[in-house]
Amino acid sequence: IVYCAGVDPTNAAPQGIDPNQPHPARRYNYWLGGKDNFAADRASGDELQRLFPKVRLGALANRALLQRATRFLTAEAGIRQFLDIGTGLPTADNTHEVAQRHAPDSRVVYVDNDPLVMVHARALLNSSPEGRTAYIEADLNDPESILANPTLSETLDLKQPVGLMLIAVLHFIHGHGSAQPIVRTLLDALPAGSYLVATHATSDFGTPEQQALYQQLIAQGKSDVWTRPHDEFAALFDGLELVEPGVVPASEWRPEPGAEIPERSDINVWTAVGRKP
Ligand code: SAH
Repeated sequence: IVYCAGVDPTNAAPQGIDPNQPHPARRYNYWLGGKDNFAADRASGDELQRLFPKVRLGALANRALLQRATRFLTAEAGIRQFLDIGTGLPTADNTHEVAQRHAPDSRVVYVDNDPLVMVHARALLNSSPEGRTAYIEADLNDPESILANPTLSETLDLKQPVGLMLIAVLHFIHGHGSAQPIVRTLLDALPAGSYLVATHATSDFGTPEQQALYQQLIAQGKSDVWTRPHDEFAALFDGLELVEPGVVPASEWRPEPGAEIPERSDINVWTAVGRKP
């Protein structure tokens, strides 16, 4: 694998990257206040923000959940291996940094399909000496290709429990019922004692007017985020033991003591953590 470091997105785009096409990783990076994004990503982010003025709060709540859930898995559930699909552009406190802070021997395999994430993957590979990190470029629509990738089995012992992180990625799998078989395939490959952490954008808390406008955006191809309702999200955890407090908005899953809980309609992200029995 060849990594090109030091790409400045204000200059020419690296090969294989179309700066005119908004991409989820770069738009999310924009919402989080990062610099690794292009004008098209910012325009797409602003358009969604017009309809959901608090969308940045949702992105921040999602990112904070990733960190709390990773800490839970390492510090409380004893998990030392992570498969983090839909990694996003490296930012502060990536999964391996949070995990290795609590358990330096943690191993993390990152997976994303955005070539710009690949360009920045070096920042994800700064593992602690006791642990390991690796990066696979693959598409979640083809979970078998992730499972068959030799980097996965070289980095993780798939006979030991794994924390499967599907954080803010399943809503890029469009179509009613289409996320469940993908999650099933991945969980089937993991042993008992593994965990699933998932977050998912939802329209459940929007006003009827917002919901109708949002359906229009989807239909016009102006949003690539396929929101799912509570029951379809909860069904992803069928057969797993839900960890308290169950299916809740991201900001309400084991919040930091004293944290202010925002309105559900400002977050619009379902979250749950489940354990494979
Ligand atoms: N999990 C991180 C980043 C979420 S942004 C977090 O929650 O903070 C969503 C990421 O999913 C982006 O990096 C995007 O490139 C990736 N993604 C979207 N569709 C994907 C697919 N089909 N396969 C793999 N990754 C995908």
